Amino acid sequence: MKKLLLALTLGIFALAATSQAADQVKPYALDYCVYSKDKLGEMGKPLSEVYEGQEIKFCCKDCKTSFDKDPAAGLKKYHAAVASKSSGGSNAAQ
Ligand SMILES: [Zn+2]
Repeated sequence: MKKLLLALTLGIFALAATSQAADQVKPYALDYCVYSKDKLGEMGKPLSEVYEGQEIKFCCKDCKTSFDKDPAAGLKKYHAAVASKSSGGSNAAQ
């Protein structure tokens, strides 16, 4: 009986681990589109896409198309934008 319980517990743990891994998407950390630099929502409902566990948002379909052409470059662009945002200090507004 104890063995069955153990097997059940392990099974639940394994299930929890897999579903957690699938849900691990990093949210988009910017309030603007990295392609047009337009604020999200200004051109209507923003579009989003998950690439390699990172959520990317776009102000319009054109920007999403640019991303789809070269997602690796788009992800790089995004990371650069996030890095400059967090290291910009208090003088980040331009
Ligand atoms: Zn756009």
